Amino acid sequence: MLRHKVLWSLGSYPIESSFHRNWPDKITKLPWKVNGNTATRLPSSKRVDIVPVLHAQGESGITKWAQMLRQTLGTVLSSYRGIASMTATDITGTTAGNSCLVLAPHADDETFGCGATILRKRALSTPVKVVIATDGRHSTKSSIISPDQLVELRRQEALVACSHLGVESDDVTFLNFEDGTLHAHLPDLVSVLSMLIERFRPAEILVTSSQDGHPDHRMLNKAAYEAAESRTDIRLLEYPIWFWHPSSWISRQESPVSQANNLFIRPISEIMRMRRYRVQAHPYLPQKKEAMGAYASQVTNLTGEVDWSMMAPWMLRNFTWNNEIFFERRDWRTIDRMV
Ligand SMILES: [Zn+2]
Repeated sequence: MLRHKVLWSLGSYPIESSFHRNWPDKITKLPWKVNGNTATRLPSSKRVDIVPVLHAQGESGITKWAQMLRQTLGTVLSSYRGIASMTATDITGTTAGNSCLVLAPHADDETFGCGATILRKRALSTPVKVVIATDGRHSTKSSIISPDQLVELRRQEALVACSHLGVESDDVTFLNFEDGTLHAHLPDLVSVLSMLIERFRPAEILVTSSQDGHPDHRMLNKAAYEAAESRTDIRLLEYPIWFWHPSSWISRQESPVSQANNLFIRPISEIMRMRRYRVQAHPYLPQKKEAMGAYASQVTNLTGEVDWSMMAPWMLRNFTWNNEIFFERRDWRTIDRMV
């Protein structure tokens, strides 16, 4: 029974997602704000329509200015993404048949960073398992949705998104660490990843970049290398997410000269330091966008609250290019036969 319909668009790409039938009742019974700009609960049914909102009502001018500045600086990083793409080795054909363990710090990273790559693998019936490390309870401030409800919401979004990528719920593992706390659980994280790797024996591991600004992303990266250390038959590739966000490279504590160096020099030198690979998203981009649309809590301002955290549209565009980028450390082992 169809109970929800979510409408939103990604840039000029309109999406009508009608797959939220599995959302639990406690989510559907939330006191949704009735707000012309954000969400409308239709009176005759339990259907909820959501349209994308770039700026929540009541947002200050300073916040908007800061967003514009981040977006402007983000275009520099986006141009570096173009360089990474142009200089990358195309592994579209060779990677599709490699079984794969996708490690995501948060529900959505696997879809944004590797959605098309996963779709390509699943189109060949290649085994893919997704591990989501944290529960997302701190992903936004809200007086409408409680942390426990947020956990459930993001879990359901992940299952729907993964089903769009061809990954069944049995192949999605939630480790349920609190987001923002992975640094305090490194031994446990390494232990559980080692167990999952030993059980699944994937040919590839995909994990977020060591240069992503979010601490959970960096910590999962570190845990993945430690867990895969003894497995000489595994290729470990990094997918960048917050790499493309200025906050990963600059901080207000640094001098302007240092900030400029960090933003204009460090990302490109980091890109060049790594082996670079690309996987063509075509013809799977529409399906990837559909999966991205399942993460309504991350791509829309779900409640219209000023403090709601969501991925900015200009950031989302980094994940709808016609290819996906992967990095490989040169100082780790080489597995030439797999590329
Ligand atoms: Zn994340």
